[in-house]
Amino acid sequence: MLDRRLRWTLCCALLSTVGCRCLRASAPTKAAPRWEYTVALGTTLDDLQVLASFPPGSGDVTVAEAAAAPFVRDLAVDSGSTWRSASWPIACDGGCRIRYGFALRRAADTLDDPFLALADRDVVVTPASTWLVRPEQDSDAELLIRVERGSARFATGLRAVGPDTYRLSAVDLGGASLSVFGAHRRVPMEAAGAHVEVIVGAGQDPIGDAQLAHWIAADADVVRAELGAFPVDRLFVAVVRDDAAAHTFGLTVGGGGAGILLRVPTDLEPSSVVAGDWVLPHEMIHVATPRLDADHRWLSEGLATYVEPLLRVRAGFVDAEKFWRDLVEGLPRGLPEAGDEGLDRTHTWGRTYWGGALFCLLADVGIRERTKGRASLDDVLRAVHAAGGNVLSRWSLARWLEVGDAATGTRVLHELHERLGARPGEVDLAALFRRLGVAIEEGRVRYDENAPLASIRRALTVAIARAP
Ligand SMILES: [Zn+2]
Repeated sequence: MLDRRLRWTLCCALLSTVGCRCLRASAPTKAAPRWEYTVALGTTLDDLQVLASFPPGSGDVTVAEAAAAPFVRDLAVDSGSTWRSASWPIACDGGCRIRYGFALRRAADTLDDPFLALADRDVVVTPASTWLVRPEQDSDAELLIRVERGSARFATGLRAVGPDTYRLSAVDLGGASLSVFGAHRRVPMEAAGAHVEVIVGAGQDPIGDAQLAHWIAADADVVRAELGAFPVDRLFVAVVRDDAAAHTFGLTVGGGGAGILLRVPTDLEPSSVVAGDWVLPHEMIHVATPRLDADHRWLSEGLATYVEPLLRVRAGFVDAEKFWRDLVEGLPRGLPEAGDEGLDRTHTWGRTYWGGALFCLLADVGIRERTKGRASLDDVLRAVHAAGGNVLSRWSLARWLEVGDAATGTRVLHELHERLGARPGEVDLAALFRRLGVAIEEGRVRYDENAPLASIRRALTVAIARAP
């Protein structure tokens, strides 16, 4: 079983932070400008050739990710007559074409960052924001990316709009779905009614295709059991190995398509991966959650932290004792420390993951108490799903709270956010566990069936019968 303390240090981060410029983008009032890219992979992964075309009014153009700048070479601009070498930023007020080479492999080896680029043998996994340039100004532009000579050496979670052609909104470039460059094989599968395209580096076999498919399908089924359907129709999963890692690492993105990166240790144990792994279901709960702005990442991570073990208990993958033990031991890390300014403004690891999980437990218990057990946090998740909220969409926290509270007919979520969002708030965790009737005594989880909220504690971990 994974060590809980270590697991959180390795936990994924949802790319909900799409950047302020993206969030300020204005609503389109006329046909959106189009940024066009033609991308061709040369003989090596350090020979990505990009031709970008921007319409008049584009202003200054530069790299989308500052960290990617050192890997751009042979930068040139064509303002109408001849190509000339250029440096950042490139003035593109009258429209321009820009061409450059990008050293993907060197970027991946140097950065080794799942948010930017990482390599595994002959494959590089990277979001489009790393290797595309863009106008600096806010835009509601549509990106059209054509990939030449991609065939067996390119795969992406971006939505295809034609052969080797993909579409992405400028507001989604930060947090764009993943792309894979290099020789790979595809393991297409259906999981929980969704089409899942799994990409594995050529010649690699992390745990065997059949076991990989079983793993993904089992966790997808857990999420479907909660929501009634898998949250998206299409999911892209890139699986790479990490020789140095002791545990699986996951990352979920949703800009232009839902994608999960799984970086697995080489000694992953196939026979126990479904029962032992918490990372993939955690990521799938991110897939089921709309992207929120950076200040509210605590809710994305809190939901994934709280709901993942809950669903796995209900599915029988882990027992209820482990669920309660992890909460009793873990939730104190989510309590405010000196100087705390509330969940919305205190972005520490503890407050983000465990503080968010505490919010979710309080919400779940609060809704159940207020409705005498007729509603729960499950109804909130299902209502968000029914309203189209998933990683492909971007929501405000206010909308999530509104949809959630409407689903339960209460104001529990709003009231909790009022208490804990902008201020540290008072949470008596010991009293909460006493009321639920759960404690750890002499190393063992003990239940008090006479506790006032014992029935809520028991109900939490019971699978909900639901019409398909
Ligand atoms: Zn996460």
